[in-house]
Amino acid sequence: MSARTMFEKVWTAHEVVVETPDTPAVLYIDLHLIHEVTSPQAFAVLAQRGLPVRRPDRTLATMDHSTPTSSEQIFGNVPIRVDAAAKQVRMLEKNAADFGIELFGMRDARRGIVHVISPELGATQPGMTIVCGDSHTSTHGAFGALAFGIGSTEVGHVFATQCLLQRKPKTFAVNVEGRLGPGVTAKDLILAIIGKIGVSGGTGYVLEYRGEAIRALSMEERMTICNMSIEAGARAGMIAPDETTFAYLAGRPRAPGGTAWDESVARWRQLASDPGARFDASVDIDASALEPMITYGTNPGMVVGINAAIPVKADDPVDQKALDYMGFRGGESMLGKPVDVVFIGSCTNGRLEDLEAAARILRGRTVAKGVHLLIVPGSQRVKREAEAAGLADVFKAAGADWRESGCSMCLGMNGDTVAAGQYAVSTSNRNFEGRQGVGARTLLASPYTAAASAVFGKISDPRPLL
Ligand code: SF4
Repeated sequence: MSARTMFEKVWTAHEVVVETPDTPAVLYIDLHLIHEVTSPQAFAVLAQRGLPVRRPDRTLATMDHSTPTSSEQIFGNVPIRVDAAAKQVRMLEKNAADFGIELFGMRDARRGIVHVISPELGATQPGMTIVCGDSHTSTHGAFGALAFGIGSTEVGHVFATQCLLQRKPKTFAVNVEGRLGPGVTAKDLILAIIGKIGVSGGTGYVLEYRGEAIRALSMEERMTICNMSIEAGARAGMIAPDETTFAYLAGRPRAPGGTAWDESVARWRQLASDPGARFDASVDIDASALEPMITYGTNPGMVVGINAAIPVKADDPVDQKALDYMGFRGGESMLGKPVDVVFIGSCTNGRLEDLEAAARILRGRTVAKGVHLLIVPGSQRVKREAEAAGLADVFKAAGADWRESGCSMCLGMNGDTVAAGQYAVSTSNRNFEGRQGVGARTLLASPYTAAASAVFGKISDPRPLL
């Protein structure tokens, strides 16, 4: 058999019906993750047609997108303030009960952002196909899974059949050699990759992140990388499972145990792309040349090194429109621009390592006057661990607002929003117009850069504070 990429191995193992020029492949799905926002329509179709969920045992539900992050609304007697959110929560509770699906409800200690809790549980495993009605399902590719977001109609297809109609994507090797310097993180690396290949550069491809710099990353960092694959337009992103992956998964509640563990690891070791496997496209990145990155525009590809000036592209109407929205001009320095809000959280950077990074900057320092620093753990487990490690005390002493877990200000569905015209440095993954609130201006960055900008009240290079 000829040398195969990791993607090809996972795809072939799940292809129930091979695609033809006229028909897509039928792909078997190992794990279907659902949440309160994109599932109601799909459940309604099942109910109308009298269909059950084909594999409830391979379906896992949580609440994250629209749930409040204030303790009193979750654990107290205060009702959920956003009506649409309250309705979605009730609908998911009813649908999960009606269709026999496991749900981590509002007060469940295992609840959190869908892309944080599944790896945390060990439910995300190498070689799986994983889907969810959410673009950032690509996160799970950090484990060598083929994981991608689907629409509400497809959520219904997977409910009914545990399969999906899919056209086979092409493969794209992202080769990252060298090592990241101090204060330069996985978030900076993925922003630099998107800056280099562009927000459409990955369209039609599954990216495989490879090379020395990728192998040196922790699982949390690998999840940050794969999370933003979709921001380069890619269908998914993948990283070959290795000892780091196995060490992360060992002993997790839903990871295999006993002899099944040894058998699984032996199988997972076979997943990496074979030497000589051919990719349809490739790009080379030197990690050692990178500095902390920050976006200046309204997509994640509009990004520069923190010490760089905003590019001058006077004849580019898309760039001009973005700069007008942001209130910036080409040639200006990003350093020193004032900020109003800082958000540390989301499925990109809401894990324990991200909070440890923020605490490294915030310990013994205070948030600048007039800046609102909102820190939202990615899951209730991350919250408990951050509190046990004393990180929450560091945040509160610095003047930050420490919350319950959820998507929160990443997209502002729960009422955690940025006001029109305000500047928000955010560790999330999208800086589209209005993403964090109508008229809000988002600057994407790492937890280090976000925390340093909160301390100074302006865009700041975090490295002198480390
Ligand atoms: S944190 Fe943001 S990007 Fe991630 S799942 Fe929630 S809304 Fe989507």
